[in-house]
Amino acid sequence: MRSVKSLAQLQALGLAEASPALDAVAEKYAIGVTPAMQDLIDPADPDDPIARQFVPSAAELTVTPQERADPIGDLSHSPVTGIVHRYPDRVLLKAVHVCPVYCRFCFRREMVGPQGLGTLTGAELDAAMAYIAAHEEIWEVILTGGDPLALSARRLRDLMVRLAGIDHVRIVRFHTRVPVVEPERIDAEMVAALTASGKTTYLAVHANHPRELTPAARAGFDRLLAGGIVLVSQSVLLRGVNDDVETLAALMRGFVENRIKPYYLHHPDLAPGTGHFRVGIEEGQRLVAALRGRVSGLCQPAYVLDIPGGHGKADIAAASIRGGDGCFTVRDWQGNEHAYPPAG
Ligand SMILES: *Cc1c(COP(=O)(O)O)cnc(C)c1O
Ligand code: SF4
Repeated sequence: MRSVKSLAQLQALGLAEASPALDAVAEKYAIGVTPAMQDLIDPADPDDPIARQFVPSAAELTVTPQERADPIGDLSHSPVTGIVHRYPDRVLLKAVHVCPVYCRFCFRREMVGPQGLGTLTGAELDAAMAYIAAHEEIWEVILTGGDPLALSARRLRDLMVRLAGIDHVRIVRFHTRVPVVEPERIDAEMVAALTASGKTTYLAVHANHPRELTPAARAGFDRLLAGGIVLVSQSVLLRGVNDDVETLAALMRGFVENRIKPYYLHHPDLAPGTGHFRVGIEEGQRLVAALRGRVSGLCQPAYVLDIPGGHGKADIAAASIRGGDGCFTVRDWQGNEHAYPPAG
């Protein structure tokens, strides 16, 4: 099996119909479905949650007025090409803008893909590293993209060696879909490339449906963990994929069983043509409250929104508390309200 990269290949596999609308979608946005994800798709299920994430839909042509090309405001906080510096102690380093899969809900969909922002040139990477070295307040470097693990192990090792030479950088964090969508790439060479002596490596595993945590993915997580890498999770709350409490509970439990600490559940961003994936914030709050009532505290991610315009992330589960002046009303997981501090 090979990675699918075009509509014609998806049609040949019976995963997409021939239609002018899909041709128009494919003109605008990259397509990518790895063998591991092709394997997971049930072609008999028209609502398959894996297909929904990777197979283009005519709904992507519907763009609402609130949607924007740069939904989380990366561009407003980019001092040099490839760096986003929004919070004082950490930067994003976007070395590459390709991915092994192309998620239909991608928040950076206007920047990724073969026609996207591309890979940093040698000179751009030098300038990005010089920026990090010159800013002593940068404690953590977060490699994102695109998918940073789309780079070869050799190039990742070079990056790590350069970061290892910067004393004030203590933590290197990778955000990636590769352990799930291309688990065979997590081999000994890759694991070694992601670590450097004197630095702590975190890796945020991106997965949205419990079926993505396959035996092959699990074996990759084990190799990463054995290599001394700390694993956390990141998911996007997606209509038709994981917008029910059973699926979210199974996903979060799957992470915890694999020694991956649930970290973030993202409210979907206002990326163009992704309205069919968005749930309302109130519905999201109801789901995370129900999750709180159903599964272990270890299985609770923070429910966050990246505020449009580059204002950073906000915890939006917090509607469970109201009030002020020392008197609050706290809503429990069953929706009942309680005064805090309690009366007498
Ligand atoms: C999301 C993000 C981070 C990381 O935030 P954490 O809350 O530390 O996970 C850092 N910089 C930018 C620009 C971000 O968008
Ligand atoms: S892997 Fe991440 S960056 Fe790449 S298409 Fe999916 S959401 Fe976008």
